[in-house]
Amino acid sequence: MENNTELIAALENRLSEWNTSLCETEELFSQLASNLPQVFWIWNIRDNAFHYINPAWEKMTGRSVARGDKLEKFFEAVHPDDVQRVIHEADKLPHGGLDHDYRLLLSDNTVRWVHSRTFPVKDSTGVYQIVGIMDDITHRKDAERRLQQLAHYDALTSLPNRTLFYESLRKIIKQAETTQRIISVLFLDIDNFKNINDTFGHALGDELLRQFSLRLLECLRIRDMIARLGGDEFGCILITPDGSSDAGVVASKIREALRRPFALQGHQVHVTASIGISVYPTDSLDADTLVKNGDTAMYRSKKAGRDTYRFFTSEMNAWAIKRLDQENALRKALDRNEFVLHYQPKMELSRGRITGVEALIRWNRPGQGFVPPLEFISILEQTGLINRVGAWVIDSACRQIAEWRNSGIGEIPISVNVSGRQFSHSTLNRDVIRATQENGVDPEMLEFELQTERALRENSIDFDLLELELTESSLMTHAKKTIGILRRLKALGIRISIDDFGTGYSSLAYLKRFPIDVLKIDRSFIRDITTNPADAAITTAIIGMAHSLDVKVVAEGVETVEQFNFLRLQGCDEIQGYYLARPLPAIEISRLLLGGSKLLKPAQSLIS
Ligand code: C2E
Ligand code: MG
Ligand code: MG
Repeated sequence: MENNTELIAALENRLSEWNTSLCETEELFSQLASNLPQVFWIWNIRDNAFHYINPAWEKMTGRSVARGDKLEKFFEAVHPDDVQRVIHEADKLPHGGLDHDYRLLLSDNTVRWVHSRTFPVKDSTGVYQIVGIMDDITHRKDAERRLQQLAHYDALTSLPNRTLFYESLRKIIKQAETTQRIISVLFLDIDNFKNINDTFGHALGDELLRQFSLRLLECLRIRDMIARLGGDEFGCILITPDGSSDAGVVASKIREALRRPFALQGHQVHVTASIGISVYPTDSLDADTLVKNGDTAMYRSKKAGRDTYRFFTSEMNAWAIKRLDQENALRKALDRNEFVLHYQPKMELSRGRITGVEALIRWNRPGQGFVPPLEFISILEQTGLINRVGAWVIDSACRQIAEWRNSGIGEIPISVNVSGRQFSHSTLNRDVIRATQENGVDPEMLEFELQTERALRENSIDFDLLELELTESSLMTHAKKTIGILRRLKALGIRISIDDFGTGYSSLAYLKRFPIDVLKIDRSFIRDITTNPADAAITTAIIGMAHSLDVKVVAEGVETVEQFNFLRLQGCDEIQGYYLARPLPAIEISRLLLGGSKLLKPAQSLIS
């Protein structure tokens, strides 16, 4: 009995010691854990709840997770872009420890990078708890990013550097092995850069390189890559599914973009570049040789007199040189007054009178006679020259309207063809663009709108005497944006017509959304209108539909009396075509307008 009492007392003593030591251990744990700068937590697998999480968590994230909270509460703090990855990686946990980095989104929406180390705790039945410790490694990540930036980007221009250029080119070539894409490498070198450095000093030389790189960026598509290879050398990688001619187009665009002078501390500096182009897979299959060939081609450009581009391969060069010839001649054409407008009259069918003329551009190329627009409009568009030439067309048309009015011939409306590019390309400088954006004005429109408005006002012309013809496809290209632009033009009073209607893919219903005054049925439908029932039916349907939308219809390319009669019967409003007159120089149109009866004889005889 005594023994028993002693035993119990001893046991009680022991138990109390244990309790004290357990309490001490818990106390010790709690003090340690709550003073840890790292986040420390214990999560119970069995009830999917936190057993413990130290105060460092709330301190770091500004969010609270308490004992008993579910795991979802914790994931609220994981950056949405990292959640899936973290969950996926956590799947491995029961098999061993896990080390990984991810981002947290703090309560104030700032982002921190953390390194998390987690490991499973087992008893005889298996894993029942997960313990984790988490460090804030944002500073380390920032430093890594800066190092990465330094290693891969050029400090002056922020463009990718030579290392990243080669790395990317190798990767792109690897992909192209399966996708059959064509890759072009453009090797660019600024002409006479040394002179600029010598004249203006290195600080302004650097400034020029910065501005130059921005100019290059304007000429490239989002999927292209541009890098500073060193000094005044730049490299571009272009990926095209459709052959190498694209690289020539980009090179032309770059040349055109460089026509605008650079502003260096009040000095206007003109800069040109020599460009060499090599193409994968034609010129080489590996990155180093491609760049080397591009460099060789660039030297040929320098030898050819700079401010030009050359392909590495001779066949491509033949094509490029012919095009360059044309391009160079077109650049000079505007300054040398080689463009002229011819005018083709339109006639109202119900009254047999001339309602206006369409201005059609011709290039009076020395030694080659009148070059038709279809041979050069696309080059103007691709090089961006269309903006200047387009402005000239509008200006000339407005002057012609004023001339006819002032000479007593009358107020003759002129319609002018406008390329979609004139709407979507702006040569305004960045400050103006920023200023207009701040005022809610579409900057790309501004230049075209200003030019047009100026031309009309300078000649004191009623705005409704000018009509802009846009093809169906250029209307559809950026339909949403174009609608806005057209509304603004129309609000000014300018008339809008759809050219070559029927050749594009627009649905008739869609047209309702465009503020159109006139629809011109494409010549291809009119040609067989009297022999092909399908064309006749389409034309009749277009006329009916246009009238229901209160839009006037003009038939293009009317050449015969049969076509004329058919259209008149169908209620077409106006016609244009050789039947009436070919496009003619202004002086001959003036004669026609004065002695209109001669021109209108066949039409009038039909009407009367
Ligand atoms: P478009 O605007 O559809 O102009 C009508 C074209 O049809 C003109 O060709 C005209 O000469 C031709 N044509 C007129 N009546 C007849 C006919 O009865 N039979 C035949 N076979 N043809 C006829 P052109 O002058 O060669 O112009 C071709 C295209 O070039 C124009 O088509 C227009 O899209 C574009 N274009 C002309 N001038 C300019 C311009 O100043 N700026 C822009 N962006 N494009 C222009
Ligand atoms: Mg037209
Ligand atoms: Mg047309």
